[in-house]
Amino acid sequence: MTQTAETTAKDVWSDGRHVLTASSTRAHKKCPYLYYLQYVLGIRPAIEEQALRFGKAWHRCLELLAGGQSVEQVVAQIDQWYAQCPTHVELTDWHVERETLAAAISAYDWFWKIDPAQVEACEQTFNLPIVNPETGAASTKWRMAGKIDKRVRRGERLLVREHKSSSADLSPQSDYWLQKRLDSQISFYVLAGRQLAGVAGVDYDVFRKPQIRPSMLTQGETKAFVQSGEYCGDRFDVYVATDLDGGPMVSVDTIVADVKLGAAPKPTKANPNPEQPFAIRETPAMFGARLVQTICAEPARYFARQEIARTELDLEQFRHELWAQMQAINDQTLSGRFFRNENACLQKGDKKCPYCSICWFGCEVRISDDGSIIEDLPDGFEIKPFMHEELLSDSSESD
Ligand code: SF4
Repeated sequence: MTQTAETTAKDVWSDGRHVLTASSTRAHKKCPYLYYLQYVLGIRPAIEEQALRFGKAWHRCLELLAGGQSVEQVVAQIDQWYAQCPTHVELTDWHVERETLAAAISAYDWFWKIDPAQVEACEQTFNLPIVNPETGAASTKWRMAGKIDKRVRRGERLLVREHKSSSADLSPQSDYWLQKRLDSQISFYVLAGRQLAGVAGVDYDVFRKPQIRPSMLTQGETKAFVQSGEYCGDRFDVYVATDLDGGPMVSVDTIVADVKLGAAPKPTKANPNPEQPFAIRETPAMFGARLVQTICAEPARYFARQEIARTELDLEQFRHELWAQMQAINDQTLSGRFFRNENACLQKGDKKCPYCSICWFGCEVRISDDGSIIEDLPDGFEIKPFMHEELLSDSSESD
C-alpha cells in the first residue's frame, strides 16, 4: 500500500514493532541484541553518527534535485542545514561535510545530467504481507515495509533506484559490486517492487565520499594564490594584513585562513628587512573548490550506477530467508531472549557499535509493564515511540 497524505506510518504500523524493514533485518543479522535495543525498545543514540547524518543529507539533496530544484537552490539549502555547527562536532569536520555535500551534488548534477532512465515515482512507501513460501499463507502478525527512493523506467525495464553514499572502491570489478549479488536489502526492495509494479531489479546509484581534508598550501602556492586570487578554477578575494604580533593575517572571502610562518630569512645589505615567507591552510571554500576539481577530474571514480537483477529463483530463496528470519525474530521477541554478537561490537577502522556503553558495562535495560519507562539506560540515548524513522513521511525533511 502506498502511503497517502491521509495515512501516516504510525497509523499504518502502530509502533512498528511487528514491521520488518531492510534496516531492521540487517540489524538483526548483525547482532540480535542490537535489533532488540533499536527495534523492540526503540533506543537510539541521542547524537546521530556522522555517516548516518551525511547519508540522510545526501538523500535530502537528491530528493530536492528530483523535486525540480536547481543545484544552486540545493546548495543554498545545504548552507542553511550547516549554518550552525553542533557543539559535539569539530568545526573543521562540519565544514568538510558541508563542502563535500555541496561539491558532490554539483558534480552529481553535472555528471548525471543525461539520465537514460525516466523517474516514475519518488519516495514510495510500501507495506506488504510476509508470505510463507511453503504454504503461500501470509503472516497475520508481521509485515514488510520500506521506502523506495525512486522507481525508474529504463527502456522496457522498470527498476527501483536506490541512492547510497559509501567510502568503498566503486570500480566495476570491485568487491563492492560482487557483494551486491547477495545484498538482502536489494532483494528486499526487488521483492516489494515486483509485487507492487513488476520491477526487474535495482538501479544502484552510489556516490563515493572523497577522503581528502583541507590541507596546507606550500609557500609557493600561497604566494601565487595571494597574487592571483585563483585556486582550483575558482576566484577568491584575498587580503593580506598584519596581525597584532606583526605577522601576516590572510583573509579569503572574509574568512581568516590558518597561517604557518616559514623560516625567518637573513637580512642582507640589499634587503635589510626581508619578508618572512608563510603558507596558509585551505579555507572551507578553497577546499570545496579543490573537491569539485578532484571529483570532476575522475567522475567515474566517485559516481557509479549499476543495474542489479534478481531472478525469480533469487527471490524464492530470499522469501525463504525472510520467513526464517521473521520466525527467529518472533521467537526471540516472545521469549525476550536476543543474544549478543560480540563480534559485531568493533567495526571497521576505529568505529564501534553505538550501544557499547550499554552492553560492555552490563546495563540491564528494561521496559516497565506499561511499556513506557526504560530503566538503567545510560546517558546519550533517547527512546523513540516509532521504531522505523525512515518510514515517517517527514523523516527526510530538513532538521
Ligand atoms: S555493543 Fe555489541 S553486543 Fe551490544 S548491541 Fe552492539 S554489537 Fe550487539
